[in-house]
Amino acid sequence: MPTKKIPKQDFVINLIKEVLRKRGVVQSQEDLCYHVLDGLKKYDKKYVLSPRRVKELVIKIPNVEIKAKTKKIPKMTKLDKCPVCDKKVSKIYGKNLLNKKIHIGYVCRRCGYTTDLESFMPMKYLFLWKTVKGKV
Ligand SMILES: [Zn+2]
Repeated sequence: MPTKKIPKQDFVINLIKEVLRKRGVVQSQEDLCYHVLDGLKKYDKKYVLSPRRVKELVIKIPNVEIKAKTKKIPKMTKLDKCPVCDKKVSKIYGKNLLNKKIHIGYVCRRCGYTTDLESFMPMKYLFLWKTVKGKV
């Protein structure tokens, strides 16, 4: 019977470090998750890991530089009036992984219509291993 096992935080962090030190750069959080999970499975096939958890843990590692790339869909970047009731819409802001305030969508205060740009322009993250000079 296959049961799932959640790896401990330190264990995952160590594997993330290992993967990034070896590869130098990983192109996305899904990719990073894939490689880390690969390492976990060598210890126990029951280990599970989600890209979201990897993302939460990777930001705790000081040696890792994270670069965010945003894909913009020009059609969605501007909306002045609500397509439902024609009232002026307000912008919604959110934070990305780097704690930067980003515009993520629009909301209509009258009828409740919302658009969420994030679902149209997924953030892509790049993870880079920084070598600290004098320390390895
Ligand atoms: Zn409206």
